[in-house]
Amino acid sequence: MVNNRIDVVTLGCSKNLVDSELLMRQLVANGYTVEHDPETPCGDIAVINTCGFIGDAKEESINMILSFAEAKKRKKLKKLFVMGCLPERYREELSEEIPEVDRFYGKFDWRGLISDLGKSYYKELEFDRSLSTPSHYAYVKISEGCDRTCSYCSIPLITGKYRSRSIEEIEDEIRRLAGKGVKEFQFIAQDLTYYGLDLYRQMKLPELVERVSDIEGVEWIRLHYAYPALFPDDLLRVIRERENVCNYLDIALQHISDHILKTMRRNITKQQTIDLVQRFRDESPGIHLRTTMMVGHPGETEEDYLELLDFVEEIRFERLGAFPYSHEEDTYNYKHYADDVPADVKQERMNRLMALQEGIALSVNEAKVGEVLKVIVDREDPAYYVGRTEFDSPEVDGEVLIDKKKTLEPGRFYDVKIYEAAPFDLMGTVF
Ligand code: SF4
Repeated sequence: MVNNRIDVVTLGCSKNLVDSELLMRQLVANGYTVEHDPETPCGDIAVINTCGFIGDAKEESINMILSFAEAKKRKKLKKLFVMGCLPERYREELSEEIPEVDRFYGKFDWRGLISDLGKSYYKELEFDRSLSTPSHYAYVKISEGCDRTCSYCSIPLITGKYRSRSIEEIEDEIRRLAGKGVKEFQFIAQDLTYYGLDLYRQMKLPELVERVSDIEGVEWIRLHYAYPALFPDDLLRVIRERENVCNYLDIALQHISDHILKTMRRNITKQQTIDLVQRFRDESPGIHLRTTMMVGHPGETEEDYLELLDFVEEIRFERLGAFPYSHEEDTYNYKHYADDVPADVKQERMNRLMALQEGIALSVNEAKVGEVLKVIVDREDPAYYVGRTEFDSPEVDGEVLIDKKKTLEPGRFYDVKIYEAAPFDLMGTVF
């Protein structure tokens, strides 16, 4: 073997990233030099952690596998392994179609890769990770799987039933990470708010967040992937009362028309959604809401869509992302509905929605001009230091571009005076 380097490529969501970080820790413990998402892969071994959730993501994963398979054919790579959500769904087909891959692992049996390399799996490092994020923040996956039955979603088919990690296990992990200098913790799951119902027979997210916010060194906790139905209202008290819990909530609503919410099997109505959002605003003033909407779901009429536009205009979400519907095999929709909204109509509805949101995002940011905000610096770019406020989640939300009048240190917090706003970024200075 020419070099002892393994390239690990992660596609898809932050939950996949956590799996890659767990794998990389084991590889490092076995003496490998591990490169994450390398610009130019040149290890003897490569591992691709794939996404298999919707059409575009699957295509991206397959193209990545094929590019590495090509490198193997040209003898630039000795071993190629693929893991994650795509083989969890299509392992047999992939093995037949891409024989260059030495072995496929699913979402939960990737540990087999260690023994297939003839190496040891270190049980004592089971929850240890080689962080791929800047050293001051980390994603914390509090559970696996999902028990919801959204009609369009393939995730439960890939990840299986909901499995909460114990509160003690999560506390231990966060103490260890905080001990290494991590200050900001992004709580993630397929469905954050369902946490505890399987393990403790009751919703335990508020208690978990409260206990973690007591851990020394925890500066920010940010909550992602909440689900609207049966929302644990006590969480709003925790967000309001705890200084180190970001006044931010990522909650995918997907749509607002009762017709579509019913077809999507979201177990919530338009009025319940409106009441819930109002409770967020009333019980945690200044909360920044991130949501995700889906356009082009089977049966979506222009009326349904206009209802969604009116809702977004009315509520003015501080952050909003949107997806065109993807007709996924084996889902409820695939068995019961046709993918009847044409692709160009889906795209046109996406464009109108995102154009509306861009205006809202700009006015949300303009309202911050003149304010002094607590900002964590993520990195130094040639012209600016780049950071985020408590209202900005990494990779998905905006950033604060800070001028270089003063020398700042990545990983530290600063009070930044905002002097200019753009739709998705703020400009500021440290005085
Ligand atoms: S909550 Fe619904 S959309 Fe989210 S992972 Fe579960 S089934 Fe899919």
